[in-house]
Amino acid sequence: MTLTQDSLPQTRHLATPIPGPASTALHREREAQVTSGFGVALPVFINRAAGGILEDVDGNRIIDLAAGIAVTSVGASNAHVQAQVARQMGKFTHTCFMVTEYDSFTKVAAWLNAHTPGDFDKRTALFSTGAEAVENAVKIARAATGRERVLVFDDAYHGRSLLTMAMTAKVNPYKLNFGPFPGEVFRAPTATRLWTRREDATAAAALAGVEQLLADNGPETFAAMVIEPIQGEGGFLIPAPGFLAGLREIATRHGIALVMDEIQTGLGRTGTLFASEHEGVAGDITLTAKALAGGLPLSAVTGRADIMNAVHKGGLGGTYAGNPVACAAALGVFEAFEDGTLLENASAIETTSREVLEPLATETSIIAEFRGRGAMLALEFTDKTTLAPLPGLAAEVAAACHRQGVLVLVCGTDGNVIRLLPPLVIGQELLRDGLQVLRDAIIAVDNAQQDPHTAAALAAV
Ligand SMILES: *Cc1c(COP(=O)(O)O)cnc(C)c1O
Repeated sequence: MTLTQDSLPQTRHLATPIPGPASTALHREREAQVTSGFGVALPVFINRAAGGILEDVDGNRIIDLAAGIAVTSVGASNAHVQAQVARQMGKFTHTCFMVTEYDSFTKVAAWLNAHTPGDFDKRTALFSTGAEAVENAVKIARAATGRERVLVFDDAYHGRSLLTMAMTAKVNPYKLNFGPFPGEVFRAPTATRLWTRREDATAAAALAGVEQLLADNGPETFAAMVIEPIQGEGGFLIPAPGFLAGLREIATRHGIALVMDEIQTGLGRTGTLFASEHEGVAGDITLTAKALAGGLPLSAVTGRADIMNAVHKGGLGGTYAGNPVACAAALGVFEAFEDGTLLENASAIETTSREVLEPLATETSIIAEFRGRGAMLALEFTDKTTLAPLPGLAAEVAAACHRQGVLVLVCGTDGNVIRLLPPLVIGQELLRDGLQVLRDAIIAVDNAQQDPHTAAALAAV
């Protein structure tokens, strides 16, 4: 039987402590079999998932404010995705697009060519993971420009493969012990509003830094400039107005390909199909992955036809690149976006979250800022007087939410940000319940900060 949003109650329910006994037993077995190199945000094992609910093997119904890191935007049991995948599964699972062809690959490419920002002739290449899309964008930009260097930014996250680790900023956990990394990657300042570094946040200052870095190293040696329109793992950092437009102008002036990494921000997450639309800026290349295929592995590099076609025949590919089942899932995702409801939902999620959470920035001493766009929202835990990041308190609040059946994730270069990435199909009532749990947890931790005697008692709750 197929699970739908209607057959899994859209209410939070605690049947056992979280994690419960069944999850705890399965986790013990996991530790005996699986490398300890994988972390886990919340050690519960999922039985079913739909809408805004993850149901675990102990019967707990957990509110999903993570969407598998911005992947299940259309829901983890979307009817369009299920129907498309089932149809494809009934025909064949794989041919390898480099061996024999199938039309769903072309259809996904056509949709991306039509919907990614930029009013120019485009071509698309499909792969499996986000890191693979980033790597291929660099390969393509190098082939198209005849240059080697890559410009990336402070607080950037682009993946865990060797090249993308070099492009990612944060060392622990992503890069620690894994070097040496590929060379020719240069890091420039960005214009983000981050409380801990607020004085550096103007677009003009950051753009001057970019110009200086290019001038010092020869702008004619740079193939690509890669940026997330809102930085994800770095802490949900929104660029100061004019920064992306400034980068667009610099890239054009120096013949550098501007690559928009929309892997986390894309496919409706921020209330528009692509986050760069908020800035009125189009990359020469736009990258998508995460939400593209509703949970199946699929990523895409979409860009100007002359750039995308500059690669020699056979230069791009991969055994699983654009797998037919994943392409079918993407066609289901595109259907789900067709009537505009999901984009409206993203905006409604922002309105409700802002109403419940934004006052915490003035009501508490531990929340410096509530920020984000659409359904990509975050709370920064920073002491507003000393500007010291408070990663321990962010972790404490996340743990309190988890115990009460609300899944939130922590991010940020300093680990001091709680981020919200609910599925766009989450119901308003369920969302409000989850937000209230988060709000209460923050107020309790804030009160404990004022009164250290209650801190110990609170940790036991
Ligand atoms: C997740 C992410 C990636 C890497 O994607 P994977 O599928 O994990 O390889 C790259 N860029 C951004 C902005 C991401 O959020």
